[in-house]
Amino acid sequence: SLVTVLPKIVKKQFFQRNCASTLAFIESSKDGSVSRSSLSLLAAAQKLSNPITAVITGSQAEKTAQALKSSYACNNLEKVVIFEDPKLDTCLPEELTPLFVKLLKNNDYSHFVVSNSSVGKSVLPRVGALLDVQPVCEVTVIKDPKTFVRPIYAGNIISTIECPAEKKLLSIRASAFTPIMEGSMESVAIEKGTDIPPSDLDVIWVKTLLTKSERPELTSAENVVTGGRALKDKKTFEELLSPLADVLHAAMGATRASVDNGLCDNSLQIGQTGKVVAPNLYIAVGVSGAVQHLAGMKDSKVIVAINNDPDAPIFNVADYGLQGDLYKIVPELTEKLRR
Ligand code: FAD
Repeated sequence: SLVTVLPKIVKKQFFQRNCASTLAFIESSKDGSVSRSSLSLLAAAQKLSNPITAVITGSQAEKTAQALKSSYACNNLEKVVIFEDPKLDTCLPEELTPLFVKLLKNNDYSHFVVSNSSVGKSVLPRVGALLDVQPVCEVTVIKDPKTFVRPIYAGNIISTIECPAEKKLLSIRASAFTPIMEGSMESVAIEKGTDIPPSDLDVIWVKTLLTKSERPELTSAENVVTGGRALKDKKTFEELLSPLADVLHAAMGATRASVDNGLCDNSLQIGQTGKVVAPNLYIAVGVSGAVQHLAGMKDSKVIVAINNDPDAPIFNVADYGLQGDLYKIVPELTEKLRR
């Protein structure tokens, strides 16, 4: 009917007049599905109201592209370009950067968006330097195609900036955008890209050391249990927090003090120099609440703090505070939740 056709015509005319378009770098998970942070990235890209081209790299690119097309719904996604080369599996920024620079130079993309994953974070500054464009990092709100909100000074100031660059380079804070919904996109074309430019730096991938865990992935977990320095040693950290994390099907997190003191692996670190999380439930156990830690978790929906110091700054951001000895409270809480 005219009612459904008209908005499409208007939208198309707007795109043609606007000439704006977005290139979105989509990352594959280990099993070839679309990474969760990329689903949030596409949700953010939709807000730019441009036609979107997704680019997927590595030997699983075709599988990821098919998964995206058949399992999700993203407004404005027009095509997916895949570069199926196993040399891109390691996601070395030195290999990916020349490819993205070439795509951005040879096409009229007005926006290039990546998620704030470790790959996105290492690629974007390199692309920015080679194109002589200042990237806008950790975007949490897209107000319009040139106005973005991002935290600065470890999240103590929220700045709104207008970006005048012709090509806008953005990294998106995945936890700030709800992932795109499930669905399917029949009309999306999948194209094979060719002529991957060689790396201009002599870098060789030596090996991959992955931390194996049965727990949910920290940055996308619904619940997170975080242990601070008060946990004393590795054994205590594991024995006290694991049962609590198990009953809540939670991911485990840590402060930098816990990591530096060898209580856990550094992949668990949350904060300014660690991961940024925004789960439904965040339980901070023996965590003081330093600004650098808050920068990585204060957007959590419900924050529970367990600390014996009533003046600990974590209580300023907590929805529920349990003041007392964590060695008594945590086992009790775990037992009650289990029941
Ligand atoms: P502490 O500050 O030592 O707090 C331990 C808490 O446990 C205290 O509040 C204490 O009251 C409580 N406690 C002790 N015993 C008990 C008990 N029996 N029962 C209950 N409570 C108890 N930190 C991060 O976490 N992430 C970052 O990314 C990060 N980046 C940083 C970047 C820079 C540039 C700098 C300078 C620092 C950074 N830090 C970061 C470090 C940060 O400043 C803090 O030092 C750190 O977060 C403190 O960790 P914590 O809360 O585990 O330890």
